[in-house]
Amino acid sequence: MSYTNQPKSRFLRVKCNDCENEQIVFGSASRKVPCNICGRILVEPTGGKSTIVTHILEVLE
Ligand SMILES: [Zn+2]
Repeated sequence: MSYTNQPKSRFLRVKCNDCENEQIVFGSASRKVPCNICGRILVEPTGGKSTIVTHILEVLE
């Protein structure tokens, strides 16, 4: 798998809308990222990018 179209990789600190768990997720994940605690989807891949579907607390670069 190649990531040449993604020059910058970022990590995001997000907070789950359901259980308020905080976790670090990869900002350009190519698959769904569930909450570690309750399993709610936090990141969804859409056309090569990721959509964060919960609260973003901080962007880590
Ligand atoms: Zn959760």
